[in-house]
Amino acid sequence: MELSNKIAVITGAGSGIGRASSLKLASDGATVVVVDFNKETGEETLKLVKEQGGEGIFIQADVSKTEDVQNYVNKAVETYGRIDIFFNNAGVIQKFAPFTEVEESEFDRIMSVNVKGIFLGMKYVLKVMEAQGFGSVINTASTAGVRAEHSVAVYSASKHAVVALTKGAALEYAKKGIRINALCPGGVETALTASVTEQFEKGGYIPEELPNMRMGRYAAPKELAEMVAYLASEKASYMTGSIVLVDGGLTL
Ligand code: ADP
Repeated sequence: MELSNKIAVITGAGSGIGRASSLKLASDGATVVVVDFNKETGEETLKLVKEQGGEGIFIQADVSKTEDVQNYVNKAVETYGRIDIFFNNAGVIQKFAPFTEVEESEFDRIMSVNVKGIFLGMKYVLKVMEAQGFGSVINTASTAGVRAEHSVAVYSASKHAVVALTKGAALEYAKKGIRINALCPGGVETALTASVTEQFEKGGYIPEELPNMRMGRYAAPKELAEMVAYLASEKASYMTGSIVLVDGGLTL
């Protein structure tokens, strides 16, 4: 299998893209270290991994806290000896709001998870990968990381920062056997958006953004997981510093 004997650490693995990627990487042969601050959903992901014959552990962590990040990195290395793949994915979305009405606390919340969390994850994982001399890192950015999106300027700023951190780190590690890329999803189906898509398909309520979904639907998390598995694998051996859109044409 493509990822046999690989050790993958996945943050934000309790739902959405993180969960789908845990299942995909495990089905491709990787052992998964499931990281999330939500214990219930993280443990559920690990259970699903095991149900399909995969292996792994769950570690509860808040990716915006240094001690928690050091803890998940150390535990992964203590348990499995190395980290081959790091899917640096945990993130939060902004409440839609006019620019001047965004609270300072909301700015801090978005930045601490989406920017500091991504930075801390790479800071500690790259030390491990540098000592090994190999590794693949995938950071979750967004279409909002490469363009403006309405009423979420702070989220967009945080995702532009993820893109910049990806490029900067990729430049430093290109000669060290470590590839670092960013994934940019557009709209991804969640319990909430699934019902929106359904209504759209039935010709009912059309939310403002859905007509911009060129394919008339959101992505299933699995469709992002396919790209994560590709970037993690040797198939992507010449890709580093790439900002990869998987957005169903949203940015056209
Ligand atoms: P997406 O649809 O983009 O995958 P979700 O909101 O479904 O987004 O998933 C994000 C995941 O990240 C959730 O499982 C959530 O619990 C997790 N998460 C959010 N903030 C943190 C954090 N500070 N530390 C660890 N995990 C987090």
